[in-house]
Amino acid sequence: MKHQEKLLYLIIGVFALSVMFWYGIKWVVLPPDNATVIYNWTVKDTTGHVYTRREDRSIPKILSQDIPPGIFVYTATVELPLLTGEGTDYALVISHPAFQAFRVYIDGVLVGSVGDMASGRSNIWNGVFYFPIDRSFLDKDTLSVEIRGYALYIHGFDIEPFITSMETARRYFFVNRLFTDRVYNWAIGASLTVGFSLLVLIMLSRGVSNKKYPYFALASLFAAIFYMDYTVIDCLPVPYILYKKVIILSAMLATYFIHNGVLAVVYGNEKKPRSAQILSALVWVAAVIDLIVGYDMVQFKKIYAYVNLIIPLVFVYDAVVLFSRYSQAIETGREMSILLFGMVANSFFVVIDIYQLVREIYTSGYTILISTYGLMIFILAMNFALIYDYILVYRRAMRQERTVRELKDISQKDSLTGAYNRSYMSEILPAVHGDVCFLMLDIDHFKRVNDTYGHTVGDKVLKHIVSVINMQVRSGDIVIRYGGEEFLIILFDTEMGIGKVVAERIRQAVESSIIIASGYEVHVTVSIGVCCGFIGEDITKEAIWQYIHKADEYLYIAKESGRNKVVAGECPTT
Ligand code: GH3
Ligand code: MG
Ligand code: MG
Repeated sequence: MKHQEKLLYLIIGVFALSVMFWYGIKWVVLPPDNATVIYNWTVKDTTGHVYTRREDRSIPKILSQDIPPGIFVYTATVELPLLTGEGTDYALVISHPAFQAFRVYIDGVLVGSVGDMASGRSNIWNGVFYFPIDRSFLDKDTLSVEIRGYALYIHGFDIEPFITSMETARRYFFVNRLFTDRVYNWAIGASLTVGFSLLVLIMLSRGVSNKKYPYFALASLFAAIFYMDYTVIDCLPVPYILYKKVIILSAMLATYFIHNGVLAVVYGNEKKPRSAQILSALVWVAAVIDLIVGYDMVQFKKIYAYVNLIIPLVFVYDAVVLFSRYSQAIETGREMSILLFGMVANSFFVVIDIYQLVREIYTSGYTILISTYGLMIFILAMNFALIYDYILVYRRAMRQERTVRELKDISQKDSLTGAYNRSYMSEILPAVHGDVCFLMLDIDHFKRVNDTYGHTVGDKVLKHIVSVINMQVRSGDIVIRYGGEEFLIILFDTEMGIGKVVAERIRQAVESSIIIASGYEVHVTVSIGVCCGFIGEDITKEAIWQYIHKADEYLYIAKESGRNKVVAGECPTT
């Protein structure tokens, strides 16, 4: 498949997914079919002015300067009986309320309270709340519902309150909490984990040249703060406006770092285009405006509604940059695809939001802003891309290390048997210290093997002997091909008693094994000379050689006294 084709499929796929996701969320949030939705609210605002909301539904209203923040009283009358069904229990569901806090009264009785009603220091608008209705309220002709909402800048409902059976209410509550509030809690956790892990990795591997790692790490951390806006917090420790400013500043910073991370991926250390740099600067300008302009929520909301448009603008720009540079970034192809997927998904959510906002102006249909889901998907994609990238880098390093090790091994090992060679031995001898045993091993009557079966079989016998030895010693011990069919085995941290046991074990293992080579069954034995001793730090190389010669002497004695034997004895103590 060509690049362009792949991209096309990617975009169609992402588009289909986003639309499905959008309808999914919408479907989840909408009042269930069998609910009695309450539309006809009479509203008393904070100036004492009373009015009726329109029949259909109205989106939450922004306060104006002449209507001060405070408690708005929403009242409605519901016709009874509600639904057929003897003995059904009912609940009032308030989903996504556009208040800082609210209290619910049924027939004048307080049935529930959410958030801080004194100063509005709570963040509850992404929450779902349900209030069971006592049966005693239901055996009349009507039911009066009153919601006293504390509003700092907007009031009303994103989704009209409704009454439904307890069973449906519980299900609605669970599904909504899962897909609105809870999803963001997970996103916060994941973003913090990835952000901090990346920072630690960066610190551990100083000298990482690509700036994308710190950028994406910081993007993750700021996104985590931003996601807090979507979770239900009943009591904030600070005034709401301060909290909101921190949240929006974090959104800006996350955007800034994502933008620069994407630029680092796409352009590396090349010069970035002017337009990209201008956007970067604009994000900072927007952040500063958000931070210092607007002293009450009404003012602030009006400002950030416009200023925040920089965020979708940056995302769409980044999607285009990733898209247009896709085929050039060959080295990090897979990583680019994942990032592009995230950015395209993000852009679709942004576009859906913009479309919804425009439609809202004409139809006053209700809207749910879903760009944060897009952002979550991007952060997820970004993290996957980074993990993938890390695995690639790690794998490459491992492969290099292995190659170096293998090359070293080739020059240090005998190619026939895989035992170390003499040059390796002279390299390590000066480093041999402590309680050490030297085992000198020689195959008995090896010449006969060669003469009887041929050189090829002889070679196989040599290989076999080494594998038998390796099975009897620890991985830290060293087996050296000392001569043609003579092997020196160095056992570390081993005293005479154990050295003799190991040598005996090797002798027996060889004796009891049969080598099958070229159709022959070959049987050989070995003789071993053992010499053990303590080698101090200050000992010379020549002194160590004395140990080896001594082991050789004991081997000679073993041969003399009949072969297939282990002979151990006194070692030089110089
Ligand atoms: P013993 O040690 O028991 O006294 O008898 P031996 O027959 O083993 O004696 P010697 O040490 O004299 O013989 C060693 C033989 O090992 C000589 C040589 O042909 C053979 N040899 C050495 N290197 C290799 C090799 O790489 N492959 C084969 N097939 N044979 C080898
Ligand atoms: Mg021999
Ligand atoms: Mg020999």
